[in-house]
Amino acid sequence: MSRVIEYIKRTQQSSAKPFCAYLYDLDHLRSHVASRAESLPAACQLFYAIKANSEPQILRALLPYVRGFEVASLGEVDKVRAVSADVPILFGGPGKTNEEIEGAIRQRVSLIHVESLNELRRVDVLARKHGVTVPILLRVNLRGPFPSATLAMAGRPTQFGIDESLVPEAIRLALALEGVKLQGFHFHSLSNNLDAGKHVELVAYYLQIVAKWQALFDLDISYLNAGGGIGVNYADLQQQFDWPAFVQGLSALLDSAALPVRHVLFECGRYLTAASGYYVAEVLDIKQNHGKTYAIIRGGTHQFRLPSSWQHSHPFTVIPTEKWEYPYERTRHENGPLTVVGQLCTPKDVLASDVFVPSLRVGDIICFQYAGAYGWAISHHDFLSHPHPDHIYVEQAGILA
Ligand SMILES: *Cc1c(COP(=O)(O)O)cnc(C)c1O
Repeated sequence: MSRVIEYIKRTQQSSAKPFCAYLYDLDHLRSHVASRAESLPAACQLFYAIKANSEPQILRALLPYVRGFEVASLGEVDKVRAVSADVPILFGGPGKTNEEIEGAIRQRVSLIHVESLNELRRVDVLARKHGVTVPILLRVNLRGPFPSATLAMAGRPTQFGIDESLVPEAIRLALALEGVKLQGFHFHSLSNNLDAGKHVELVAYYLQIVAKWQALFDLDISYLNAGGGIGVNYADLQQQFDWPAFVQGLSALLDSAALPVRHVLFECGRYLTAASGYYVAEVLDIKQNHGKTYAIIRGGTHQFRLPSSWQHSHPFTVIPTEKWEYPYERTRHENGPLTVVGQLCTPKDVLASDVFVPSLRVGDIICFQYAGAYGWAISHHDFLSHPHPDHIYVEQAGILA
């Protein structure tokens, strides 16, 4: 964080334009992901789900530390192949076209996550057309009940995966088809789970269910993909997911019983990249309106949609700056609630609501933390046609622009 602040102060002085950028601390990213990957039990492999942030600098930084990448389109396959010709790729997503399935085969993805019985038949047809056998996992939507989390993708009706009740039929079909090789099962049941104990329980639950299918069909399978969904606590940055407790619980779990698979995969997005990214924007105006105080920043939710998509006040810090070039007094907000909004002509362009801020002046900089995942990647950049923010990658060797 201090390096990021130092960089911002230095750059703002020399720029005529209001500051607006995504800043990534690549050294932090590398050490965070390396320590997570290294601490997992030997049977586990860590993949990165690139939809959280697929910038090439991010993928390149992660490449040495993750087992591979999880993707859900050919565009994402291309982004991964642009940084590595042979890193393992897991290809998922509901509603795959023939072009996508054939592209995935051509790009030698390691596993295709099959999401329905129709798709299973179609992958088989296309695999045989290309004279190959495609390794697959069946993505399953379990009936639950699950440990709680904020965005459940399973245990209730969704467009994802094969209903648990249809899994026996899907297994029988997969075993009978010559174009596919059933390598295991994929579950991605929740999002932003902050409870390490519950995450271990979830993996335990998956293992139990896979062991049942494995025994019932005498399967020789390699993988249980436990998905992503490890969370970031945006409401209290000091209370993050307890990774050491997770690893400890997971080790105990994996040691306690014969595993029905050789490897347990995790394909995390948010948890890997969120903390290393910052969305940083200069305050253009501060004003009162109907008794409420607003700070308007250069930028907005078209560049950082996460707070409006999650309906939360995104955590930020104020970086005071001394740049002021006008002959009149800087407007200052002190010791009160403040709503931070962007430049868009819609009242929904809100990044934080009624947050207590001790001091903020026009020209100061607001730095949103934990903006490295689902920030720029999910935003509607060209709504209102404002210029894009800079993307700055900070690392020991210097600044990569
Ligand atoms: C989005 C997604 C992930 C990553 O989820 P996070 O919550 O960012 O960890 C992993 N697997 C699948 C199938 C996904 O759709």
